Amino acid sequence: SGKHKIAVIGSGSWGSALAKIAAENAWKRKDDFHSEVRMWVREKIVNGKPLTHVINRTHLNSRYLPDITLPKNLVAVPHLKDVVKDATLIIFVVPHQFLHTVLSELSRPGVLTPGARAISAIKGVEVNGTDIQTFASLIEAKVGTPCSALSGANIALEVAMGQFCETTIGCPTHNDSLLWSAVFDAPSFRVRTVEDVNGVSLGGALKNVVALAAGFVDGLGLGGNTKAAILRIGLKEMTEFCLEFFEGSQAETFSNESAGIADLITTCYGGRNRKCAEEFVKSGQSFEHIERKLLNGQKLQGTATAEEVNNFLVARKRAHAYPLFEKVYKIAFEGMSPKQLVVGL
Ligand code: NAD
Ligand code: 13P
Repeated sequence: SGKHKIAVIGSGSWGSALAKIAAENAWKRKDDFHSEVRMWVREKIVNGKPLTHVINRTHLNSRYLPDITLPKNLVAVPHLKDVVKDATLIIFVVPHQFLHTVLSELSRPGVLTPGARAISAIKGVEVNGTDIQTFASLIEAKVGTPCSALSGANIALEVAMGQFCETTIGCPTHNDSLLWSAVFDAPSFRVRTVEDVNGVSLGGALKNVVALAAGFVDGLGLGGNTKAAILRIGLKEMTEFCLEFFEGSQAETFSNESAGIADLITTCYGGRNRKCAEEFVKSGQSFEHIERKLLNGQKLQGTATAEEVNNFLVARKRAHAYPLFEKVYKIAFEGMSPKQLVVGL
C-alpha cells in the first residue's frame, strides 16, 4: 500500500516508552503509516500469565514500565520473525548485550523486507581488539539495512509520563531525517536531527561510563562541585574519544545536542548506572548483585561499556589519554578504591 510499517525490537523500559511514541504517531499519521505497530516481547510468565497476553489485554507492560497505558494499536508479539514481517521501519532497542542473538535471527534469508530501514536506540559499543563499532554500523553490517541512531536525555519513565524532553537522531541521509522525525517527533518529545550517526551513538554509550563515576561521587558523599568536575571531564573525554576514533563525527553533537551534554546531565543525576554505582561504593557488593537487587530485571549498560572502552583503549595504547574512563574501569573491575577516582585527575 506504500505505507510504512513499524516494528519495535525490544520491550524493556525504553523499548516500551519509544514504542508508545511511535504507535501514537502511526495512529495520528495514518496516511503514511500502518496503524498497527508490532513490538517484540521476549516471552516471560508474569503472575502466572504470558507477558504478551498481559500487554495485549491490559495495555500495560507490568514487568518493565508499570502504570503507563500503552496505545491499543501497539501489539506485543513473541516471535521475532512475526514482528518484522512486512516491516519497512525497524527500531532496535534491546539492551546491548542481547543484540547479537537478535541480529543472527534477523539475518536469515527472507526474514527482513528488502529496502527496510533501521534505527538504533541502544547505548553501548562493539569492540573487537583494536576495532570499535557503533551498534548502528553493526546492524547495517549484519542485516544490510541502513541504520540511524536515536539518543538523548531520555529517562524512560519520564518520557512515558509525557514530561517534556528532547532527543537527537543521527541520520545517514536527509530522507532518513524526515522519515524518523515523522515516527518520533511529538509535542513532548522533540526531535532534532544531525548528520552524525557516530556522534549520537557514542554520546549515548560513553555517558554511561561517566554516569558510573557520578554514582561513585554520590556513594563517597561528595558534593555538587565534584560531580560538576566529573561531568566536565567526562564530556571532554567523550568528545575527544569520538573525534579521535570516528572520522567525520562532530564536536557540536556533544556540546549542542540532547545526545551529548543533556543526556550526560540527566544520567548523572537520575539514571540507573548512577544509582547502581552509588550502591557499589556504599555496599561493596558486585555490580551483578546490585543490578539484580535494584533494577527488577532491567539492565545496566555502563559497566560492560566501561570494560569494552578500556579494552579498546589499551589495545590502541591510548588509555592514558582518557584518565576518567580508565579510573572508572579500574574501580569497577580491578578493585581500585573508589576514593582514588579523583586522585590525580
Ligand atoms: P531494560 O533495561 O528495561 O531491560 C529489559 C529488557 O531486556 C526486556 O525487554 C527483557 O525482555 C530484555 N531481556 C532480558 N534478558 C534478555 C535476554 N537474555 N535476551 C533478550 N532480551 C532480554 O531495557 P531498556 O531500558 O529498554 O534498554 C534498551 C536500550 O535502551 C539500552 O541500551 C539502554 O541503554 C537504552 N536506553 C534506556 C533508557 C532508559 O531510561 N531505560 C533510556 C534511553 C536509552
Ligand atoms: P541509565 O541506563 O543509566 O538509566 O540511563 C538511561 C538513559 O540512557 C537516559 O537517557
